[in-house]
Amino acid sequence: MIELKDVTVRYPNGVVGLDGVNLTIPDGEFVVVVGLSGAGKSTLIRTINGLVPVTSGALLVDGEDVAGASKRELRAIRSRVGMIFQSFNLVKRTSVMNNVIMGQLHDIPSWRALVGLWSKAEKEKGYQALERVGIVEKTWTRASELSGGQQQRVAIARALAQDPSVMLADEPVASLDPPTAQMVMKDLQRINRELGITTLVNLHFLDLARQYGDRVIGMRGGKVVFDGTGAEADDAV
Ligand code: ADP
Ligand code: ADP
Repeated sequence: MIELKDVTVRYPNGVVGLDGVNLTIPDGEFVVVVGLSGAGKSTLIRTINGLVPVTSGALLVDGEDVAGASKRELRAIRSRVGMIFQSFNLVKRTSVMNNVIMGQLHDIPSWRALVGLWSKAEKEKGYQALERVGIVEKTWTRASELSGGQQQRVAIARALAQDPSVMLADEPVASLDPPTAQMVMKDLQRINRELGITTLVNLHFLDLARQYGDRVIGMRGGKVVFDGTGAEADDAV
């Protein structure tokens, strides 16, 4: 469960990223956050993950206070939060498996994954995650040789290998063509249904939001301006 109570985020330059956001996302929910560029979607995700400090208000992830967490507590919280980015953020020169292993090690120096020093259990978890996104045949392919859609699936597998309770996807389909975007959204939705991982996906297309959001949150100017079903979302943002 993710809970924000009157959360405001002000960046050091004075720009307000989040403006008094109240939001409760129950366990297992699949939520799409939609809004134009600059609406605060990315700030919301980075705040939940503790990458951006909360200026005021309360933020709880699985009951843990992110806003008041020490560095060590923050690491523990982040280890249960899988992150997916628009640009995939894979290490391109190395294999798919190495990348997926890095998800599990994400706070241990990644050199261990890069040089192939991993345990049997870590490798097994890597295979399982790659199987779940249907890309296990690419396990030993170099990430740079994959298409965008395949790279995003590897990124999803990397997040899954962390055994996350929460998945945060920041514009995961923004750099993909429409059919591939559909495929990746379907993957995220299926994984949410199969594993019950609470999932928050940022999108800037209302049509995809309508199609996939059990719940759609509309943002504008750092505020939540809509919270309802995909079908109700038409004039939200
Ligand atoms: P979105 O993801 O919806 O495009 P963002 O969360 O990236 O929106 O941005 C919300 C607002 O915060 C924008 O005005 C943006 O310019 C500002 N912003 C985002 N990141 C930073 C930053 N690191 N420093 C200062 N302002 C930022
Ligand atoms: P964005 O891509 O939204 O701008 P950043 O570039 O600020 O986000 O993120 C910083 C880096 O931290 C990312 O490249 C990402 O690899 C890493 N990172 C942060 N949190 C996590 C996490 N929970 N799991 C994996 N990687 C993470």
